[in-house]
Amino acid sequence: MVNNFPVLVERIKQEGKSLEGGILKVDSFINHQLDPDLLEQMSAEFNRRFDPASYDKIVTIEASGIAPAVMLGYLAHKKVVFAKKKKPSTMSNMLVTEVFSFTKNTTYQICISGEFIHAGERLLFIDDFLANGKAASGIIDLANQAQAKIVGMGFLIEKAFQQGGSLLREQNIHVESLATIASLDNCTITFA
Ligand code: 5GP
Repeated sequence: MVNNFPVLVERIKQEGKSLEGGILKVDSFINHQLDPDLLEQMSAEFNRRFDPASYDKIVTIEASGIAPAVMLGYLAHKKVVFAKKKKPSTMSNMLVTEVFSFTKNTTYQICISGEFIHAGERLLFIDDFLANGKAASGIIDLANQAQAKIVGMGFLIEKAFQQGGSLLREQNIHVESLATIASLDNCTITFA
């Protein structure tokens, strides 16, 4: 069900740019410059939508997921672990999976140390965008490897014209998106 957060919708209307190829550019408040006041408002909204008692830890992927994840972790008093895109030589007990990037048109590996996600742990995944759900599927794979459970997924922006949302909801995952974009056709941003 679409449940747009008006504060974020307004900001996307003011500053978001729709690029060729169905890409939304939100560099001035999410992907490059950050607005901590907006981040706090968005994370407070996630905190209303995901009961902190329902999960143990927040997971995200570097880089753009970290800011909203940390802000939510602060509000909900939960630890945050981010999947890394480069394998550190020092990481022990590493869980690894592959993710296809829609924006960069390449496949890359993400990894999390098994020290930080554990069997039986209930995880909430937070990220900036949901497009085809490849990043989210990679996180599900890492959680499965650790025998942890993904109990929810929160995205700042969901592009409903790509398959990620239906792919995740079909798996009965509690998915929440703060702004759902129905179309970026003709370089125009249309909200669901
Ligand atoms: P997915 O894995 O769901 O196919 O794509 C999600 C990831 O791709 C996000 O973490 C984000 O980094 C990137 N992404 C997908 N679509 C967009 C977009 O329209 N704009 C931006 N800035 N990033 C996007």
